[in-house]
Amino acid sequence: PLNPRTREVPVVPQGISRDDFLKALEELKAELGEGNVEVNDKPLKDGWYMEHPNTHDMMTILDEEECVAGAVVYPGSTEEVVKIVKWANKWLIPVFPISMGRNLGYGGAAPRVRGSVTIDLGRRMNKILDISPQDYTCLVEPGVSFYGLYEELGRRGLRDHMWVDTPDLGGGSIIGNTVDRGVGYTPYGDHWACHSGLEVVLPTGEVIRTGMGALTQGGENTWGVFPYGFGPFSDGIFSQSNFGIVTKMGMTLMPNPGGHESFMYTFPNEEDLGPLMEIIRPLRISTILENVAQLRHVTQTVAASGLPKSKFYSGTGTIPSETIHRAAAQTPAGDHTWAYYGMCYGPSHIRAYKLAIIDAEFRKIPGCRKIDPFTLPEDEYFWSRDRIASGTPDIHELRWVNWAPNGAHIAFSPVSPIRGPDATKLFQLGKRIHEQYGIDFMPAFCVGLREMHLIVEIVFDRDDSEEKKRALGCLRDMVDEAAKEGYGEYRTHLVLMDQVAGTYAWNDGALGKFNEKLKDALDPNGILAPGRCGIWGKRYRGRGWEM
Ligand code: ADP
Repeated sequence: PLNPRTREVPVVPQGISRDDFLKALEELKAELGEGNVEVNDKPLKDGWYMEHPNTHDMMTILDEEECVAGAVVYPGSTEEVVKIVKWANKWLIPVFPISMGRNLGYGGAAPRVRGSVTIDLGRRMNKILDISPQDYTCLVEPGVSFYGLYEELGRRGLRDHMWVDTPDLGGGSIIGNTVDRGVGYTPYGDHWACHSGLEVVLPTGEVIRTGMGALTQGGENTWGVFPYGFGPFSDGIFSQSNFGIVTKMGMTLMPNPGGHESFMYTFPNEEDLGPLMEIIRPLRISTILENVAQLRHVTQTVAASGLPKSKFYSGTGTIPSETIHRAAAQTPAGDHTWAYYGMCYGPSHIRAYKLAIIDAEFRKIPGCRKIDPFTLPEDEYFWSRDRIASGTPDIHELRWVNWAPNGAHIAFSPVSPIRGPDATKLFQLGKRIHEQYGIDFMPAFCVGLREMHLIVEIVFDRDDSEEKKRALGCLRDMVDEAAKEGYGEYRTHLVLMDQVAGTYAWNDGALGKFNEKLKDALDPNGILAPGRCGIWGKRYRGRGWEM
């Protein structure tokens, strides 16, 4: 839908007059070309995942006009990114870099500061600069998506040779997902851990390379194979931050393991969660369970059918447990509370060895069922997990957004050890607060290696402001209450960044102060993505921007 603008356009960032803002944009047009600078004065179009807007968050939890861009610019090279950054410093205009802007559930393409100029890197900087079949590495620009790389491997006849690790939704940028520390589901699922070397434009316009790319001649031969280079490892400060704009990144790719096989187990009762975690932990840490394992609650499994809640329930409030189980009983996966999706890699004799151990362990939970994949129809969610865990991008995951009319989603994602009491405590906490706010609870536990993220997606009607208020209230309460119990988020939505950063306050907020010191040193005018991850430059601090 086209949403007419409800406030004055163009949106001018605070601290500059409308005339100066328009004059500054004219100046930038002269540098980048007329077509590469767009004032955002048209109706806001939400589109959908594959045709998403770059001006705002199509799944906004606030009013759409809150976190909205004043203009969007399209650099074609690192040199043009440098020009934009210098321009921003000259005019003191906040800029917000995105790679592709498909960061759904975490803010999409939206800038934190209203009226910021969005730097859409992906539109024109979308080249795969290198793929090395010998080293299993690649070098990409911000506009390369997981789908894009997958297709290129196909074109070069390399898909059987090596795999791309893909997150739940494959349409996003590899760089965008990696710098936000997103995850995927093959053994290469920790994207940040799998990257190697960055090229970064600093907020004042210098260009640096980290790792082996910093060698005098550019380091192309070892860029992707050794991430550390020499000296302090600086890459970390360019993830979940606003200290630089990443224009190139090396990424490692997974060798085809020579076979793979998805499996699915279900467990009947909510209370099975604790004992199950005690079984999963040693298997996962010793990599008998080889990929990010997902343990999903039946409400999300039913929602993943893509049918709206109204198909199952016409009452008010949260959907009753009996109704969900009755609906689940009609599906091939059955009526159990928990479903475990995993994959085993390697030739069949190796798989058989590991699968036997997993089977014996899982069956210790009374009532455990192993689902035979060949009983599952082609469009069953299981096959989406199967594709993702074997390096094939997919977008089936989005289906549960249909649970609400005009469905949108926002996530609560705390980290905990893989222990029964922790899983149970977080599950109870989420369930209680969801009930308080009248929201259906859809938890999924994603087991990384030594830790797990609990991912709770709240689905809401983006046209219903009362429902959005409840969703945000529910999230804010979960963040605070989880923090009191010692659980912190691994990543968060734009709107919650100040709150989440505030939960990492050990020693009188020492880490936050350190980040502010870095911010002021690297970005003295505070022009780059102000407020991202709760970090504000001194021009913004203490002036009421935090929320
Ligand atoms: P995706 O295209 O994978 O959905 P986004 O482009 O939305 O990812 O990126 C997620 C967030 O990460 C952005 O909102 C932005 O703050 C940050 N980001 C993305 N790309 C870059 C980049 N190249 N340099 C610096 N920050 C980036």
